Amino acid sequence: MNPWEEALIYLRKTELLSGLDDGILEKIAVALQKAVYPAGSVIVKEGEPGDALYLITKGLVEVKKREPSLGVDLTVAKMGEGECFGEMSLLSGKPRSATIIASEPTEVYKLAKKEFDAVLAGNPSISLAMNRIFAARIEEMNLNRGLSMVSLAKLNLDREILSLIPEQFLLRHRVLPLGYSAGTLSLAMVNPADLLVLDEVRKFVKHVPVEPVVITAEDFTSFMKERYRKVIEGETGACDSIKGSLIEGSEAARIDLLQDIHFLEGNEEAATATDLEKEAAGAPIVRLANNIIARALKKGASDIHLEPIEQGLRVRYRIDGLLGEEQVLPKRFQMPLTSRFKIISGLDITERRFPQDGRLSIRLQERMVDFRVSTIPTKYGEKIVVRILTKDSSTFGLDRLITDAPTLKLVRDMIRKPYGIIYVTGPTGSGKTTTLYSGLSELHRPEINILTVEDPIEYDLPGVAQVQVHPEIGLDFARVLRAFLRQDPDVILVGETRDKESAAIVIQAALTGHLVFTTLHTNDAASTFIRLMEMNIQPLLISTSLIGVIAQRLVRRLCPECKESYVPDRAVARYLGLEEGTPVYKGRGCDRCNLAGYRGRVGIYEVLVANEEIRHLVGQGRSSEEIRKRAVAGGMRTLKEYSAALLREGLTTVDEVLRTVVLDV
Ligand SMILES: [Zn+2]
Repeated sequence: MNPWEEALIYLRKTELLSGLDDGILEKIAVALQKAVYPAGSVIVKEGEPGDALYLITKGLVEVKKREPSLGVDLTVAKMGEGECFGEMSLLSGKPRSATIIASEPTEVYKLAKKEFDAVLAGNPSISLAMNRIFAARIEEMNLNRGLSMVSLAKLNLDREILSLIPEQFLLRHRVLPLGYSAGTLSLAMVNPADLLVLDEVRKFVKHVPVEPVVITAEDFTSFMKERYRKVIEGETGACDSIKGSLIEGSEAARIDLLQDIHFLEGNEEAATATDLEKEAAGAPIVRLANNIIARALKKGASDIHLEPIEQGLRVRYRIDGLLGEEQVLPKRFQMPLTSRFKIISGLDITERRFPQDGRLSIRLQERMVDFRVSTIPTKYGEKIVVRILTKDSSTFGLDRLITDAPTLKLVRDMIRKPYGIIYVTGPTGSGKTTTLYSGLSELHRPEINILTVEDPIEYDLPGVAQVQVHPEIGLDFARVLRAFLRQDPDVILVGETRDKESAAIVIQAALTGHLVFTTLHTNDAASTFIRLMEMNIQPLLISTSLIGVIAQRLVRRLCPECKESYVPDRAVARYLGLEEGTPVYKGRGCDRCNLAGYRGRVGIYEVLVANEEIRHLVGQGRSSEEIRKRAVAGGMRTLKEYSAALLREGLTTVDEVLRTVVLDV
């Protein structure tokens, strides 16, 4: 038997060398050395120079990678007989990207880079054969990743498309915008794995999905050297026709995902996973993803949850504050569908072990809808939550939220004060931001300067300067606020007063003549002052800067088409503060409300206005109970009283009130 027969078997199994014929492999086999590692020994160490390829002939190894954010080594794979590692180091000599530890006594063939280089030097034909294999592999790899390789020589590039992105940027990142097709900008990249560059590009071409294609570095360089100027300076002599096509291109780009969404609406009911699968020609996963988004928008959902469970991928929508199951897709859709959501929101699809978050925007008829997408790894795979950030400010209006006329007047009087702070309080999901924005939109006039600092920016207010905080780069609430004060604002909206520093600056802003809107996480209006004192704010400063506090909850609004009255039992009525025998309402469920019994939402409010008496108590640092009592005695309508009024008017149900409001008996 050929002495290298055994070694050949293993060499044929390596990715790197498998395409070579046996004659060549035999020459490489000569350079192999046997090595044995006892259990627990480190074979290669991450970060050390890569100097050999290893073929496992017996045993088992673990591949560990250091996770810098956790400071631990995570096992990412196990390998056994017939598998190999360290291939790339033979070519690149780059540092090891992982640590390999023998978890059993392990035998390997080792091919040292030095020896391998010597074999190559003596046999140039090996290099040539390998080059051919690499070229084929790169092509195949790009195809597998859904990327295609393009050659610039064959393409006619448009001046307007090229000039979408500044030349400096193109040169620095080696990318080229090629053109629009089907509402997508195709972007040639030398390094398509560079997702950060994709993010940057999205800033130049807002709201247009970007699809990377691959070009070689040589192709890019020669294009920039020889053709870029000519195209940009319009020497192609085809300016007019290019302009014509550009306008079409831009139009197409604005349609984005919508074509598919509209396409799907027609057979929405029938578009189950099975049917989609049958749609042979199209891209079923793309349609499925679009369909999930379209249905969520149509149903008025605020969040989409894609959750891997044992049986498949569960899709749930949060509608009017409550999660409901939409469908469970077969397991085989899990990977491609989660990948699709990650791709469209600019996330790294190869990263599945760590949480990520990203954004995406689509244009729906006349309005833009923004989505915030986050992933977390769970037992059965990655869970994705898509938060729908409706940017349509036309839905605002204090009078839509506040159905009670006296309460509405109180709030309107408060926001017309020239300076001071209005706190809006309540738990997450209680609609604080909506109230703040509604207030802002009533104030918004060209002659006043409004600045907002938020996390995230949930709505677009045209003409208002909105700032997103980025704590990870040190741009936190406090820092933005300090900068605001130098920008001569009249009104400042602070998404949330979440710490001592931002609380202090908010108060400083109010005391220097600004009107400030902000939110706090407390249960009722009177607890606000305790919360601020816990943040080390002097009671006197709190009382001096205070305009008032709005505590609120958001409940589902009864569907007017199908609500019906009943008389609740005595104990419930008493608990809710209703007189015995008062009819309340519940929804039967009808076509108009998707059988939910509810349509939209309505607020429950408790408004504490800082009059002289309240100011005095707050300034003395009195307890919440005392302040609350005085406020009630002075006519403050409590959350409980407001709820009772909503129940009597048939605007919501007993269940909704019990779910959201903690009632003092
Ligand atoms: Zn109904």
